[in-house]
Amino acid sequence: MNVLKFGGTSVGSPERIRHVGRLVSDRGKNIVVLSAMSGTTNTLVEISEYLYKNNIPGAQETLNALEAKYDAVVTELLETPRGRALAKNAVDRSFAIIRSFFSDDATFTAEDEKEILAQGELISTNLMHVHLGERGINSVLLPALDYMRTLESGEPDMAFIRSKLRLLLELEPEADLYITQGYICRNSEGRIDNLQRGGSDYTASIIGAVLDLDEIQIWTDIDGMHNNDPRFVDDTRPVSSLHFEEAAELAYFGAKILHPTCVLPAKLHNIPVRLLNTLDPEAKGTVICNTPPDRTIKAVAAKDNITAIKIKSGRMLLAYGFLHKVFETFENHRTSIDMIATSEVGVTVTIDNDARLDAIIDELKHFGTVTVDRDMVILCVVGDLEWHNLGFEAMAVEALKDIPVRMISYGGSNYNISMLVRAEDKVRALRQLSEKLFNNRQ
Ligand code: ASP
Ligand code: MG
Repeated sequence: MNVLKFGGTSVGSPERIRHVGRLVSDRGKNIVVLSAMSGTTNTLVEISEYLYKNNIPGAQETLNALEAKYDAVVTELLETPRGRALAKNAVDRSFAIIRSFFSDDATFTAEDEKEILAQGELISTNLMHVHLGERGINSVLLPALDYMRTLESGEPDMAFIRSKLRLLLELEPEADLYITQGYICRNSEGRIDNLQRGGSDYTASIIGAVLDLDEIQIWTDIDGMHNNDPRFVDDTRPVSSLHFEEAAELAYFGAKILHPTCVLPAKLHNIPVRLLNTLDPEAKGTVICNTPPDRTIKAVAAKDNITAIKIKSGRMLLAYGFLHKVFETFENHRTSIDMIATSEVGVTVTIDNDARLDAIIDELKHFGTVTVDRDMVILCVVGDLEWHNLGFEAMAVEALKDIPVRMISYGGSNYNISMLVRAEDKVRALRQLSEKLFNNRQ
């Protein structure tokens, strides 16, 4: 058995829902995880923002537009009066829940918002379920709010999820396939919660891990993870296989097709993750698993909006505790550090969230002279970069020979080399890296 996750764009219109319906009915008795139809979660966030500000008319207007959209989806997707009635019922139920928070005299809380956000996935799964019923497929809904639970720490409660899911599956042995909601869960207090934006990948990965399934399939609308960013580089190619660690590095670098949290449960339980294309189901895609290192460079990625902060101090020389103080400053401001480079007299770190930058700089000034470089980009080369392998780091640096490089980080893991350059040099750098590393030119 596999788990197949389809993102918001894959179920973004009646036509797409039908397409996914066909695709999953051809693939046997699997568990299908769905996101909300594209745009819905954003709209629900918008509605919640109105409610926080007690702007009921604003919320009302936005919700009415969303409701009109779903009315049209129901009419277009479903063919029988019974199907339409069932779907309309489910959609109405969700909209009634959302409307129950439209009140002038109650304060709107974060918990209320989570209940509203949960409706997107509840609607999309209901629509798919009714649609499959019309096609004669016996699909069974597995309510995520019944089995997906987090601990006090926010981590998924794997033991609970496993036993509850097994029970739900056992109750429905006749099912042709199972459908469930991505993203939504209950927290340790039993209240409706979610696994953070983009969390449907995580749902699929948790299900694959707890049930020890054959494969976790993430269906999107490109043919796997590309070896460079297709928005900036012309001749990118899908990478056929990646190690879990390589995927984890790339996921942070905004390789948008896989959510970073998704990698961990799959990796721990050694379940392959396959990235597939809804629009080209036969394409090979990318498989992420525990493949042995294969002495190749797999991909290049970039992360924007990076700030580099240098702290230089004579006192750092031969002193212990200096780095601790620097790191503690960032910790105090809940800002995570990405890259680090040190010398005997200074250290440079990068951050991707500069919300607390001014306060951080003020504190760091106690330890030395602080210099800041903004509008930087981290370029990351991912592959089998175990340090005994010769020549890879040299090639990466050589590719940037005519571009100013602010810092380089290598050796932190066996899988990556990161280089910091100015934002204005990003596209040229990405292209030159592709030329050098994948096309063997330049
Ligand atoms: N619908 C949620 C979101 O838009 C979860 C997901 O799509 O993965 O963030
Ligand atoms: Mg997504």
